[in-house]
Amino acid sequence: MSLTRENLNALPGYVAAWKPAADSAPPVALLASNESPLAPLPSVEAVLHAAVSGANRYPDMGSNNVIDAIATHLQLPREQVAVGGGSSSLIRDLIAAIATPGDDIVFPSPSFQYYANAAIIAGATPVPVPLDAEYRNDLEALRAAITPRTKAVFVCNPNNPTGTTHDAAVLADFAREIPSDVVVVIDEAYIEFCAPESDSLALLGELPNVVILRTFSKAYGLAGLRIGYALGDPEFIGTLRKIVVPFALSSFAQAAACASLTPEAQSELRARVAESVAQRNAFFAAAVELGVPVVESHANFLFFPLGESSQELVERCRAAGVLVRPSGGGVRISVGTADENAAALAVLREWAQQHGN
Ligand code: PMP
Repeated sequence: MSLTRENLNALPGYVAAWKPAADSAPPVALLASNESPLAPLPSVEAVLHAAVSGANRYPDMGSNNVIDAIATHLQLPREQVAVGGGSSSLIRDLIAAIATPGDDIVFPSPSFQYYANAAIIAGATPVPVPLDAEYRNDLEALRAAITPRTKAVFVCNPNNPTGTTHDAAVLADFAREIPSDVVVVIDEAYIEFCAPESDSLALLGELPNVVILRTFSKAYGLAGLRIGYALGDPEFIGTLRKIVVPFALSSFAQAAACASLTPEAQSELRARVAESVAQRNAFFAAAVELGVPVVESHANFLFFPLGESSQELVERCRAAGVLVRPSGGGVRISVGTADENAAALAVLREWAQQHGN
């Protein structure tokens, strides 16, 4: 007899890219989780130290300072901003807000693995839609998968794990064609690495069924603190704010998010993102030169569509202390520091030689 809801028995647990093993040597390069390889921005780190002495108190339950800081930063009314413990938790909350058993949640595949789980947790049916031949979200097919049962369609821009994007005009046309009772979720977890940054925000004023998700986990280097945000129609956002777990955003997360949006932190951020993009482009060029199949990326990772050989490359990397992630019929390698990327490239070089590239 199962005590849980029956549909949860077959739920695949979220697979983290790696877990520290007490008995193994520390990895040379942690390139499996699309994190920033760098410590939090210096100005943010200072604020975190200062927050320690207030940790006996509950944080501001409404995260009002964070909401104000994000609203000011993006020039949006604060009613259009909700925050959560990572955008993962907002994905779960927003699906819970709109779907009941029998409803469909449509999303690209391969993409962020949690879309499917969050749908199943809500009792809804996950409807994965394969990427197109260029490893992009197949917008035509996503639209075609929508039925009267559909409550939300996700677009992941740039897509994890492939790093591909659609430009803002194409996405806007897509969103305009979705029925107004279906929520269009545009997941922009990696948007800071795109050039030019998408102006999907313009859609918020036009289409009340568009929700944009962003996170401080990637470019901002705060994955360990768990902060994400959702932008959307005030009524939808109001409901989302009501259903998030009370006090989910710790006082550290709140302090760090606010500090990340000051002009000083923003200029530190821009320099870091530029460096990461330069590293990514150099890594991509080197992989092309080696003749290894690789997809041009607009995020902080590269996707190598190696099919059945993927696991072999993952194992070789692991043997060299380079942790990377098998994902979606390929290998996803996060962009790290110059040294970390060099370690990954050394494995790729050897792999390419042995595979006759
Ligand atoms: N969306 C995408 C596309 C992601 O890749 C991730 C993290 N891997 C997330 C959302 C969730 O990020 P977080 O919960 O750390 O904000």
